[in-house]
Amino acid sequence: MAKSVPNPVNSADDVPALPKLPKPLQSVDVDQPIPFKLTPAAEQLPRTWTFINRYNDQPITLTCMVGCTANHDRDMERAQYPEDIWCQTNGKDVMLPINVTGTSESYRVLRMTMNCIPFSSKMSERLPHVTIEMIDDHWIDGLDPDGLATVISTLSSQLDRLREAHATLIDVRAEYRRHAA
Ligand SMILES: [Zn+2]
Repeated sequence: MAKSVPNPVNSADDVPALPKLPKPLQSVDVDQPIPFKLTPAAEQLPRTWTFINRYNDQPITLTCMVGCTANHDRDMERAQYPEDIWCQTNGKDVMLPINVTGTSESYRVLRMTMNCIPFSSKMSERLPHVTIEMIDDHWIDGLDPDGLATVISTLSSQLDRLREAHATLIDVRAEYRRHAA
């Protein structure tokens, strides 16, 4: 998967050599978490590896889902229950201030991961699927492509209503100011 990387500000190609200046402080958005990435594996070939089946001490060799960034070191270090083997990729996190206890706090919303649990007792989880954490520990899980399309469609409709409300809000505020003046 191609990743778009912003052009560096001081590209050696188009900026003449300048005397070194102290680096300006960069603004940090505290609401943006550091991306959680266990390996830079998104562009690598899926890993093939072996673990010991804890039920019968026999080795099982499997190939990860494409893009899996799970750290399987622990799975390889000791015998595991096959159903505990879990491949995963992580999407980008976004945070919003949400009031749950009387004061707004930053919560991660709409967190998406793609998972594959090759020995899951739920057969549908043995294929790559998507899980969405709507907000802190509230999940829509086991989404196949149709299920994910349904969620996207529902959220998209609600986003359209928010956009309409945004336009209306601008008009209503302008009208309010005219009368209040
Ligand atoms: Zn994996």
